[in-house]
Amino acid sequence: MFEKLSPAPQDKIIALIAEFAADERDNKIDLGVGVYKDATGNTPIMTAVQKAEAKRVKDQTTKTYVGMAGNVGFNDAMVDLVLGDSVGKNRVRAAQAPGGTGALRLIADLLNVAKPGATVYISDPTWPNHIPLMEAAGLKTASYPYFDAEKRNVRFDDMCEAVSKMTSDDILLLHGCCHNPTGANLTNEQWDKLTDIIEDAGVFVLVDIAYLGFGDGLTDDAYGVRKLAATLPEMAVAASCSKNFGLYRERVGCAMIIGIDEPSANVTFSQLLSAARANYSMPPDHGAEIVRIILNDKDLRAEWEAELTDVRNHMVTIRKNLAEAMRKRSNSADYDFIAEHRGMFSLIGISQDDVEKLKKDHGVYMVGNSRMNIAGLGVDKIDIFADALAEVSR
Ligand code: PLP
Repeated sequence: MFEKLSPAPQDKIIALIAEFAADERDNKIDLGVGVYKDATGNTPIMTAVQKAEAKRVKDQTTKTYVGMAGNVGFNDAMVDLVLGDSVGKNRVRAAQAPGGTGALRLIADLLNVAKPGATVYISDPTWPNHIPLMEAAGLKTASYPYFDAEKRNVRFDDMCEAVSKMTSDDILLLHGCCHNPTGANLTNEQWDKLTDIIEDAGVFVLVDIAYLGFGDGLTDDAYGVRKLAATLPEMAVAASCSKNFGLYRERVGCAMIIGIDEPSANVTFSQLLSAARANYSMPPDHGAEIVRIILNDKDLRAEWEAELTDVRNHMVTIRKNLAEAMRKRSNSADYDFIAEHRGMFSLIGISQDDVEKLKKDHGVYMVGNSRMNIAGLGVDKIDIFADALAEVSR
């Protein structure tokens, strides 16, 4: 069976992690891997998570199976968190999934049952896993213009034009907020306009929201997904709790579907659960139960929201200070976009050679397309990094 296999291509970020670990320089900087880091360079367990975890260990009385939709209390809380009051709950159904990735895969399987081989339009560029994930489910992929590499902002007019040509046979995958890898996002006015275009085209929308709360706050970051949910007859959302609860390895995500009416939502949900059954049967409970506890407990929820605010402010401060440091070094506003972007990443737009030079000469590691993890840069390393960036881009 295996004799004729050739090795699968190595994941670039995993390779970068190994290279970084092997680098013996003391002043090396990791801007590659997509996890949040605090001022000390640690990826902390939030205190609200630690408290919920302790409570769970104390209160849990059984380890019996949970069911294909996973933790129902978690699902309800996630629907409230992401969609708020934008859409009647009778039209929404949700299934817990192993991470945002698992939620995307469940929805992709569902879409391939509803419209076998349909084309999913994906932003150019995007999170690299979107393409293999959709194709593994049997769907086709194509891209729509998203990022202006010169101006480092959204090519909104081009994006709208592309969406206006899509049809009700197509699927449009949108990043809900904090676009990965670019950091360039839609304004509320742009979400409004895009929603109108989507409605006219009749294209089906899947929103991937993996960084809720990392941009401008929980409510502001949900503007786009809620606008779409309030307007469109049908839709799907894949939410991740990896970043905003810091639960990465616990694999916590939620797949939500909105049906045209309650009976349709029920039928669609039965297909979503059938995809879960075929893939892994039931998701792991631990992380989802932690999220459920936090979102349903007034004090823990307030504590989590305060911690999430600190996380967001930390990244915004790094953005502002780095843009300022580059302004001084370049005598220009060329890097002001870093302060305007939101989320954990910015695509800074330097060449692959310069990315290599940063690594070789300065011990600065970032992904080859020049995506930098803002959180990887502690406030104390901004000047060192700004000197290196100014030197390679001179
Ligand atoms: N979607 C986007 C855009 C992401 O960046 C990520 C993670 O990096 C995910 C989905 C999936 O996250 P996870 O499966 O770790 O919850």
